[in-house]
Amino acid sequence: NPQLNQNYTFDNFIEGDCNRLARSAGYAVAQKPGGTSFNPLMVYGGVGLGKTHLVQAIGNEIKKNHPDKLVIYVSCERFCQQFVDSLKNRTINDFVNFYQAMDVIIMDDVHNFANKEKTQDIFFHIFNHLHQSGKQIILTSDQPPKDLSGLVERLLSRFKWGLSADMQVPDLETRMAILQKKMYSDGIDLPYEVVEYVANNIDNNVRELEGAMVSLLAQSTLNKKEIDLNLAKSMLKNFIKNSHKEISIDYIQKLVCDYFEVPVEMVKSKTRKREIVQARQISMYLAKSHTKTSLKSIGSFFGGRDHSTVIYACQTVVDLIETDKKFRSYVQDIQKKLKLS
Ligand code: ADP
Ligand code: MG
Repeated sequence: NPQLNQNYTFDNFIEGDCNRLARSAGYAVAQKPGGTSFNPLMVYGGVGLGKTHLVQAIGNEIKKNHPDKLVIYVSCERFCQQFVDSLKNRTINDFVNFYQAMDVIIMDDVHNFANKEKTQDIFFHIFNHLHQSGKQIILTSDQPPKDLSGLVERLLSRFKWGLSADMQVPDLETRMAILQKKMYSDGIDLPYEVVEYVANNIDNNVRELEGAMVSLLAQSTLNKKEIDLNLAKSMLKNFIKNSHKEISIDYIQKLVCDYFEVPVEMVKSKTRKREIVQARQISMYLAKSHTKTSLKSIGSFFGGRDHSTVIYACQTVVDLIETDKKFRSYVQDIQKKLKLS
């Protein structure tokens, strides 16, 4: 099973109030895949809170308990790519048959289905087939099913069938336990005060916590210094500063253009083609709301337009977010990508 990563297990997943329901439901599913009422099991929560770790652990545990079962882990993004490829290569049947032959499907980050209606349609059929044959479906998402945007209603209603369990930011002691266990498995026994200091100061998510530890290790190796509280303090100062750096207008423009698959030069040009205007207006709106750039500078950045054009663009975007569902989910999608960077 190349898609399952052996490094993610229940053994190295620390339990806390933040993940107890999801963990125990996941463990139950791993004993009796398809045989509990947790079908589908949907694990949702913010970035870096351990969703992928947990569902991978479920997959590995199922393989351990039921070696003969076919388990597939696939990110939603990859599934979407595979679908497009199969359209191109005229291998849709193979694609569908492959997934319908599984005993367990684990699909990560289903919010990435947003606005991909054909792919959702195919997954809807695969889902029904598997569910009717008593096969296990495990999903993760960054939102609870009721708040997922850009997903068709019939698929959403399926997502609500089983159990949805959230993952939250771990409390201080759980963060400390995670840190200690990670470091310990690398043969490093951190001083308690360092563990406490880092866990106290990094409280967004677990991935960031790990990032901080990697920097700390690197600093200690580089400067041939022991990891102590002083080193932790000086390292964390930079770490916190870097992780909150400002988003640039260049970056916004590139992200929006990538999203709509339009060339950056077009957005800066005079063209009034509809899709270009849309990308330009959304970029202006995001530049206004996410950077401290003045209206005048935003205007000149987008091919020498004046500040009233920028105001008009922002108003248009605000109006469309109100009135046009599809448009709103485009903007939300892009905003999510911005925040992940
Ligand atoms: P998500 O999929 O929610 O974005 P990940 O599963 O990728 O988050 O987790 C980010 C990192 O944090 C991974 O390296 C994972 O092993 C670690 N992690 C998260 N939660 C825990 C936990 N409860 N115990 C141990 N490690 C954890
Ligand atoms: Mg993940």
